[in-house]
Amino acid sequence: MTPVTPVTPVTPVTPAVPVTSAAPRIAVVGAGMAAARFAERYGALGGPGRVTVYGAEPRAPYNRVLLTEVLTGRYDAESIALPLGGAEVRPGCEVAALDTAARKLRLADGSVEPWDDLVLATGAGPAMPPVRGLRGPDGYRLAGGVHTLRTLEDCAGLAEEAVGARRAVVIGGGVLGVSAARALAALGIRTDIVHQAGHLIERQLDGQAAAVLRERLRTLGVECHTGSRARAVHTGPGAPPPGGRRRVEAVELADGHRLDCDLVVLACGTRPRTALARAAGLPVATGVLVDDGLGAAPNVHAIGDCAEHRGTVHGLAGPAWEQADVLARRLSGADPDARYPGTSPRARLSTGGLEYAAFGAVDETDDPGLDVLRLTDATRGSYKKLVLRGDHLVGAILLGDLATVDALAGAFAAGGALAGHPLHLLTGGTAMTGVVR
Ligand SMILES: Cc1cc2nc3c(=O)[nH]c(=O)nc-3n(C[C@H](O)[C@H](O)[C@H](O)COP(=O)(O)OP(=O)(O)OC[C@H]3O[C@@H](n4cnc5c(N)ncnc54)[C@H](O)[C@@H]3O)c2cc1C
Repeated sequence: MTPVTPVTPVTPVTPAVPVTSAAPRIAVVGAGMAAARFAERYGALGGPGRVTVYGAEPRAPYNRVLLTEVLTGRYDAESIALPLGGAEVRPGCEVAALDTAARKLRLADGSVEPWDDLVLATGAGPAMPPVRGLRGPDGYRLAGGVHTLRTLEDCAGLAEEAVGARRAVVIGGGVLGVSAARALAALGIRTDIVHQAGHLIERQLDGQAAAVLRERLRTLGVECHTGSRARAVHTGPGAPPPGGRRRVEAVELADGHRLDCDLVVLACGTRPRTALARAAGLPVATGVLVDDGLGAAPNVHAIGDCAEHRGTVHGLAGPAWEQADVLARRLSGADPDARYPGTSPRARLSTGGLEYAAFGAVDETDDPGLDVLRLTDATRGSYKKLVLRGDHLVGAILLGDLATVDALAGAFAAGGALAGHPLHLLTGGTAMTGVVR
């Protein structure tokens, strides 16, 4: 995860080459976080082409990471808009088909647009868990009170139904589930998280960090049911209102336990949106397969949540931006040979009284060659851990106190052997946080 702060715009510079009718046409499919970052960086680097960003959503790109802050009312929709450099953005323009041989794309309204380079940035959609009763009688729309949280429209729908709601269940206890639950609790709604894994955010936190987080959530009005699976969503009896849907009343767990609620949020991960690429004959596994130059085929590139690089689909804003930066350097001509080497796991959440950062491999249990330094302060709700191989840092967690996060991030990015005692990376000492290469 990356910090949940608005993205800082890069100062635009004058394009090195004036945009002319002969300028290359770069079509970006998808107007999300990766697309915005690419367009903004491409403009800032003086790329000579004309960039057009086609987006299925009815608005220009925004910082999706801040959606839960929009839910709590801390930000409004306008304040999370992302800069786009000089690119043309066409919201409400879904790309329906690609012809990579003729270098054309077809929009949902039937019009056809040519391109010289294509950037796929179609992102990901919410994964639907196998839970009975999630959908209404048409088998398509979600039951009343059941929501996903991926777009500003989802956020508005959830905010509307949150008015007057008293109890909510969030299915999924990863970072999205935890932030959604925290936001609902901030609205005064008693919230339960149901999470199948043994502890919260298990991809980034170890069991002890998750236990501290769980306690913190409890004080904010969120109860966690880990190692627990939602089996069914129950809606109210009787006929639904005309044109309406029956409203959710409870979530049933696999052990038969029932959690009464009037809202359900599904936060069970995401699936890369690859249908367009697949239909165009591009290489797709879980995501659109790209090489280190972020190419999927000649003049076709993919970045962000839809891209799969060296077997990894990140599904996070940080790697999406790094990929966008590399591609902007390549296509603008600033560095035609720029390569994306991958992003080592790191995550950061900072939202309404909950904050953590995690870097690299945080679980030492299966590797006897690793050492661990740990500091826990139960009264202040903080937990800090370093995982070391000899004098090399291989992983770290900071939860509840991020005072040393920059020093840790620096040491992590630099790699190499730590100079001095690593404890200083947890306590904030100054002299010993350097790195020996
Ligand atoms: C509530 C929430 C909180 C999050 N918190 C964090 C966090 O703390 N840290 C973090 O790192 N990540 C977080 N994420 C994940 C992060 O938002 C994504 O990794 C990031 O948005 C990926 O950017 P993207 O451009 O690849 O995809 P998206 O931002 O999803 O954008 C893809 C866009 O493409 C559009 N599109 C798809 N198909 C087409 C088509 N055929 N034609 C036109 N447009 C199309 C979609 O409508 C969408 O607008 C969070 C996500 C959510 C929902």
